[in-house]
Amino acid sequence: MKIGIDIGGSHIGIGLLNDENKIIKKIEKDITYEKEVEKRVIDYLEKNIDDLKKENDVKLIGIVTPGNIKDNIITNLVNLGLDKLDLNCIINKYKDIPIKIKNDSKAAALAENEYGALREYKDSVFLCLGTGIGSAVFMNKRLLIANRNTGFELGHMIIKRGGIKCNCGKDGCFETYCSIKRFKEKIKEILEIDNCSSEELLRIIEKESNNKKVKEVIDEYIENLIVGLSNIIDIFEPEAICLGGSFVFFKDIFYNRLVSEMDKRRYVFNKDSIPEIVLATLKNDAGIIGAVL
Ligand SMILES: [Zn+2]
Repeated sequence: MKIGIDIGGSHIGIGLLNDENKIIKKIEKDITYEKEVEKRVIDYLEKNIDDLKKENDVKLIGIVTPGNIKDNIITNLVNLGLDKLDLNCIINKYKDIPIKIKNDSKAAALAENEYGALREYKDSVFLCLGTGIGSAVFMNKRLLIANRNTGFELGHMIIKRGGIKCNCGKDGCFETYCSIKRFKEKIKEILEIDNCSSEELLRIIEKESNNKKVKEVIDEYIENLIVGLSNIIDIFEPEAICLGGSFVFFKDIFYNRLVSEMDKRRYVFNKDSIPEIVLATLKNDAGIIGAVL
């Protein structure tokens, strides 16, 4: 048995997986990133690992989080409001079990590459459009990783010079225009909505589909997404680009328009190299599965 743990922007998912990497049990919890969050996260992980270990022969633990990972300390958790998350106490406590720690988008991408929407493609790019934009690139089925930090942070390529300030400190990053968080904030702003769930927001957008301002926000989002995608296509020439994260939840608003615009405009250097645009299929399980790969 293996344990896969996905520490996300607002939620922790813990899965017990069999030798075929199928999730056979899942435990989930919402978290708020307020005081003493690092301690609360570690305590929660230890309690659940202890419980699962009591009943199962655990051979591997995989943990995925946003940010950069060095010496089991995670930094650059820009969207969680945390300076760092030190996982060395987990490593020291469970010395008898191998533990892998990975970036969450890279892990979700590995899962899609192996079992999900990208399993048929050799050269592909995965984008996780959610709180920010996480990304991963595969060439010949192999995940590309740089030596110093993990690299391939496509969400932080600048698509507008002097544009919106990003959490990373730069201005005009792809994710400041195309994260789903940003899209939701813009819709709430123009419709003067305070707080609502994604489900409610989706219903409101569908009801307001003839509202000129709503249309403008959707058009702008798609325009910016095409700019980012066309850069990615020209650099990596992927056979497929997989879009995941909460983008999948809003697919009815974006997907068909995006595909037809990309096709119509051939907005890339090599006109015959428009890749397949596919949607992630493993949803919330991708991080848990990718953690143990
Ligand atoms: Zn940035």
